[in-house]
Amino acid sequence: MAVKNKPGEYPVSLRVKKGDEVEVISGKDRGKRGHIIRALPGINMVMIEGINLITKHQKAQATGRQGRTGVQEVQQGGRIKKPAPMFAAKVMLVCPQCHRPTRIGYAYHTGENKPARRKYRICKHPDCGKAID
Ligand SMILES: [Zn+2]
Repeated sequence: MAVKNKPGEYPVSLRVKKGDEVEVISGKDRGKRGHIIRALPGINMVMIEGINLITKHQKAQATGRQGRTGVQEVQQGGRIKKPAPMFAAKVMLVCPQCHRPTRIGYAYHTGENKPARRKYRICKHPDCGKAID
């Protein structure tokens, strides 16, 4: 899928990334949890496994390959459910330590050598505060 910014829109740095477990906080999938399968920072959206499913009507079509019997294989048509991108602001990261949805804080690794200074995310729950990655 081609992702382009509209005029006046700039790429946003997402706080979540691929593989993160998130909880949906608004919309029809509110309360559901899933893992991010694709992050789209350019449009501030994420795609989550099993959430915000759209039904795509797919026509049966020949794959171009030939099966063992010599007959051309046909891709099955019908309705296919697949996740559509949704706004990143509608999801909250689930802390892998305390398993609660949380806001995200940042901290730095305090390395002796400057190049090792790397940002990492932390859980904002006061009684947790553990590093997320
Ligand atoms: Zn936590």
